[in-house]
Amino acid sequence: MSEDKSKNLIQIYQGLKHKYRNYDTRDALKRMQAFRKAIQALDERGFSVSLEILGSINFGIVEKQSDVDLILFHYCRIHKGQDECMPLCSNLSFEREIIAHTLCSHLHTEKIHIETLDCINLHHVANYITKRDKEHYPTVLRFLFYGTIGRPVNFSLVSKFYDILTEDSDIMKEFYKWGSEILSAYLQTSDHRLSFHKYNERILNLGLDLPEGLKKELEEYLD
Ligand SMILES: [Zn+2]
Repeated sequence: MSEDKSKNLIQIYQGLKHKYRNYDTRDALKRMQAFRKAIQALDERGFSVSLEILGSINFGIVEKQSDVDLILFHYCRIHKGQDECMPLCSNLSFEREIIAHTLCSHLHTEKIHIETLDCINLHHVANYITKRDKEHYPTVLRFLFYGTIGRPVNFSLVSKFYDILTEDSDIMKEFYKWGSEILSAYLQTSDHRLSFHKYNERILNLGLDLPEGLKKELEEYLD
C-alpha cells in the first residue's frame, strides 16, 4: 500500500467514526456516561486510567446488554520495567473490577461481559518519548492504533502523548504504514461489518436522513 493510501484509510475511518457519533443512541450515551463514572471511581482511588472502547459504540450503537471490548491505558509501577501488564497484573485486575462494578450499578444490570483486549502502560509510552528506546517502540505503535480505532474515555490523560507523537513525522510515517494494514484486517472481521450494517438499518428505520456525502463514504467503506 502506498504511503498516501495508507494514510487515507486511517483518516477515512477516523472521519466516519466522528460523523457517526452524532447519531448516538440513548443506550450508547448512557454507556459512555457509565464509563466516565468508572474512570472517576478509579481516580478517587488513586488510579489514573483512560480507555478506548471498541466495536459498535464507535458508530453510536449499542444495546443495553451488549458485550464490551476495550483497551485500557494506565500507569503501572509494578511493570514499569520492560514487562507488559497483560495478563496477570494486580493493578489491571483491580481496575477491571471497578469498571465492571461501576458499569453494572450505573446501568442497573447484573452482568455485562467486558473483554480487555489489551493494556498499555503509559510509563512505557512516556519512556519512549523521553528516551526513544527501541523496546517501547511497538507499544507506541499499538497506542497510536488504539487511538485510531476506539472511542476514548478520559482522553485528557493521554492527549499530551498523542500531541507529541503525531508531530513526529518519522513515527507517523511508520504508523500509517503498519496501522493501515492492521486496520484493513480489522475492518474485514465479520463482527465489525455486522455492526456497521446493523447501524445502517437502524438509521433507515428511524427515518434519519444521512448526508449524501456520508452515504457515499459508507458505501465505499462497505465495499
Ligand atoms: Zn502492571
